[in-house]
Amino acid sequence: MTQTKSQIRNDSAPWGLHWFRRDLRIAGNEALRTNWKKSNGRTLGFFCFDSTFLSRSDFSHNRFAFFLDSLVSLKKELQAQGGDLLVVDCSPLEAFAKLIQFCEKDGQQKPHFVSWNRDYEPFARNRDEQVKNYLDSQNIDISTHRDHLLFEPYEILKSEKITDFYQIYSPYARKWFSQLTQTLGQDRIKQQKKANEYYHNLENKKLDQNFKLTWKSFLENTFFPFPDALEKFRSANNKNVTIEIPPAGSLVAFRQMQDFKNKIENYQDKRDFPASPGTSRLSIYLKNGSLVSTQILSELKLDQMTWEPKGSANQFVKEIAWREFYYSILFHRPDVEKTSFNLQYAQLKWQNDENLFKRWQEGTTGFPIVDAGMRELLQTGWMHNRVRMIVASFLTKDLLIDWKWGENHFMKHLLDGDLAPNNGGWQWAASTGCDPQPYFRIFNPWLQSEKFDPDGQYIKKYIPELKHVPAKALHDPEGSRSAFKYPLPIVDHKAQKEKALALYKTSRTS
Ligand SMILES: Cc1cc2nc3c(=O)[nH]c(=O)nc-3n(C[C@H](O)[C@H](O)[C@H](O)COP(=O)(O)OP(=O)(O)OC[C@H]3O[C@@H](n4cnc5c(N)ncnc54)[C@H](O)[C@@H]3O)c2cc1C
Repeated sequence: MTQTKSQIRNDSAPWGLHWFRRDLRIAGNEALRTNWKKSNGRTLGFFCFDSTFLSRSDFSHNRFAFFLDSLVSLKKELQAQGGDLLVVDCSPLEAFAKLIQFCEKDGQQKPHFVSWNRDYEPFARNRDEQVKNYLDSQNIDISTHRDHLLFEPYEILKSEKITDFYQIYSPYARKWFSQLTQTLGQDRIKQQKKANEYYHNLENKKLDQNFKLTWKSFLENTFFPFPDALEKFRSANNKNVTIEIPPAGSLVAFRQMQDFKNKIENYQDKRDFPASPGTSRLSIYLKNGSLVSTQILSELKLDQMTWEPKGSANQFVKEIAWREFYYSILFHRPDVEKTSFNLQYAQLKWQNDENLFKRWQEGTTGFPIVDAGMRELLQTGWMHNRVRMIVASFLTKDLLIDWKWGENHFMKHLLDGDLAPNNGGWQWAASTGCDPQPYFRIFNPWLQSEKFDPDGQYIKKYIPELKHVPAKALHDPEGSRSAFKYPLPIVDHKAQKEKALALYKTSRTS
């Protein structure tokens, strides 16, 4: 039963506040569960969005629309169980302060517990520290938990020392896989497996009334400093949406994971070919925590998994480990957000030609595989991983443009745009990053397209001007000459490769 405000006033039972951030689901949400247990179901959901974010240079209205849809879905799911979510237009620190002042003034009890799941990005860590200090000053209990990674950055180290983190993927992955099959990993995965049963109930609409408080009952007849901003954000943001937004929410993510699981044996063979949908497309859900890696792992047979190459499911899990590796790098080297991991390349003298950059952004470079990728990004908010590598290599090593420009453009357009893997992917492609992708290994875009889109199916899907060009010609610098309205290549790959080698060499010796 939901309680009315007067009941809340009259009983001294504690209530809790769960601060949602990038954990937009109920099942297997450890911080939410702990809060719910401690407050005996009297837990309210809270989400703060500070609209100053709207002016960030890498802000994406499309990604925000998907995020808001995920919040709508979460709110409905909480309400179906007697709970609630309030979305406020305010910075978290201000929001907590206002909420607590409101409780004190109105004779309400302050929340006894505040919970959240940990985030590892530099901005978030700083924000969380400030919120923690404020709540400590108010004597409010805080409970924080691991959530969107199977292993937190300080759990996979070379030694006991926190500073002794892995800088190269292979040894990191070897350790990650060994932990996966040991008690720590197995316990976490088993726990998640139990939580997954929830989705069968959600699917059959058989949910218990687990939560005992709603914001409405809590605020009845009072002047509350925050109107619910969810619909306000949605209607303002929807005007700026440029693509079709995929369905959101934890149930959708769960179903998509189940579908992918049934096809996982094809992953190894298909994952590099952008024309056939061989990958999971789960990154957009992983980004906001509608789904977490532990949940995915709990659906796979893990006993035979190793870090070495070994079949489809194994390869897929290695990709999950890449994601966690990049989080570890960002945690231990937060400066990568602004500069090269390998400081030897921090001062590279990029040519940064704005006109070439524009051609890359709009997909008119005359390199069909690059243009198809860039147009896929603009039209759908997603790009296949192989093509991400090709276009990133092309921007940095053919056009000699700073990887940070490309990183920013990706963040503006990717629905799965996520600082750690995006920064890691860009620094890998530009050879400025942690893993040894040497600067002299330069992708040849013509060979890449011949190998990974031999029939030109992917290229033709996004570049209709090339529809009648024979497949073979699509992988040849002279080939698209006959195509009406399609540009000639804006640079010569061979010549640019030499320039790139010289650029990197100079930076290494200066
Ligand atoms: C330049 C560049 C930028 C990138 N930017 C992002 C980004 O902003 N957000 C993002 O989630 N991924 C990014 N990636 C990694 C990768 O391209 C995407 O995760 C992947 O394409 C998502 O599709 P999927 O879910 O079908 O992947 P799948 O192949 O099904 O892989 C499953 C999951 O593993 C993780 N994963 C897969 N490949 C990688 C990888 N190379 N690095 C890190 N994690 C990986 C993702 O979480 C993915 O959802 C980037 C890669 C490059 C080269």
